Amino acid sequence: MKNRVLPILALLLVLTVALSAFLPSDTFAQAFSKTNNTYNGKTPKYVFLFIGDGTSFPQIAAAEMYLGAQKKTTAPQTKALDFTNFPATGVAATFDSDSFIPDSASTGTSIASGIKTGNGIINMDPQKQTSVEPITRKLKDKGYKIGVVSSVSIDHATPAVFYANEASRNNYYEIGLQLANSNFDYFGGGGFKDPEGKNTKMPNPQNILDVAKKNGFTVASTKDEILQLNNNSGKVIAINPELDADKAMPYEIDRKDGELKLSDYVRKGIEVLDNKNGFFMMVESGKIDWANHANDAAASIHDTIEFNNAVMEAYKVYEKYPNDTLIIVTGDHECGGLTIGFAGTEYETFFNKLEKQTLSYIGFDKIINDYKKSTKPENYKFEDLLPQIKTAFGLTASADGTSGLVLTASEYSRLQEAFKRSMEAKADRNYTDHEKIIYGTYEPLTVTLTHILNNKAGLSFTTYSHTGLPVPVYAVGLGHELFNGSYDNTDIYKKMAAITKADQK
Ligand SMILES: [Zn+2]
Repeated sequence: MKNRVLPILALLLVLTVALSAFLPSDTFAQAFSKTNNTYNGKTPKYVFLFIGDGTSFPQIAAAEMYLGAQKKTTAPQTKALDFTNFPATGVAATFDSDSFIPDSASTGTSIASGIKTGNGIINMDPQKQTSVEPITRKLKDKGYKIGVVSSVSIDHATPAVFYANEASRNNYYEIGLQLANSNFDYFGGGGFKDPEGKNTKMPNPQNILDVAKKNGFTVASTKDEILQLNNNSGKVIAINPELDADKAMPYEIDRKDGELKLSDYVRKGIEVLDNKNGFFMMVESGKIDWANHANDAAASIHDTIEFNNAVMEAYKVYEKYPNDTLIIVTGDHECGGLTIGFAGTEYETFFNKLEKQTLSYIGFDKIINDYKKSTKPENYKFEDLLPQIKTAFGLTASADGTSGLVLTASEYSRLQEAFKRSMEAKADRNYTDHEKIIYGTYEPLTVTLTHILNNKAGLSFTTYSHTGLPVPVYAVGLGHELFNGSYDNTDIYKKMAAITKADQK
């Protein structure tokens, strides 16, 4: 028996080895997934990292198609966001150590520090035992000045991974305190969620801004103070004068003329940070994510367009110093499951319908709240809100000869149902399983209005949370070629570190 088995085994072994040369396998995939993270070229003096939160291919494509539709041509046309024309384009995987569907803390940690970690963790390993150093601290030690900008609160997960280590992204006081105790140079955009430490377990919390001032920061919080900041201002915290309840800057679609916007904070940051040793600036557009959570396509598109404007402020530095600059633009994960295409519009899209939307979902929530406050419950009537619905979303109950988008009978009854729920106190809304899906945690009337308008435009969302899509990466400047190809989000750190020699003593 033994004599017969051995030759058969030997034959099987030969066959396996021979076949493996032709069949796709893990080793086959590995052989081609070796992305290049080595760099021997000149180190850039000016490094910009732009992160669109919740921003992936669908958010970028939607903005480009929306802009293209404004050309009013019959054939489909897009207008490219400028950064998508950068010479390097890559694709980065976004899963974290817990899930294919990550959050901004885990993905931000991967980009800032190069490790995979779990949901909600800021620059620590998945067991929350060991801290990791973000690239910003390494570059600060090398003499770069460091800037961190966000359109949402400056203690939110994405900005936090560039200056803090914390077991939970929700420890806003602890995160803000690390900002105040950092030796970084420029913080701009949103404010602090818990400056007085109302939710901290730390004994005798001191006000974060007092700590920052004691540590030499200048705090600017009016438009004049912010515009007067310059190269001699020293360490700066610039807090936007207009902040919402979450301490974030307004949505672009809601921002009033003359109010500061994300690109203003990039331009000011360049001025404040400029010095002979160079600087690293991380800029987050945080509300693209929030708009997609709320399934508000128009708000997402307007913030994505302003994100491009912010990138172009950095591009002016590249144009001036092409041999000293690197600009990287990416997202941390997708949000909303947005896509171009809806069952009701089949192979058509009507992006120009989104032009009818004049305020964000938050703006319309306020209209609903004001109506509830000013009206007795027995007088609540959906028809009362039709004029505001037309102004905000261009949707009308009937073809009244104006340019409104006429609601179908089924859309109208969906709005009436949603209105009833919106008029109830939140605690009394005992949703059916179906309602949990159609309303999420959002104001029922508002989210039904954005869904109807999105769908009329040919767009649709699958979720109120993040998704597992990969994200694009664009780069221009010194070392940009490393960002071509397909890789993991931890490779974004590795490439930045290689190009800036951040890990070399
Ligand atoms: Zn999010």
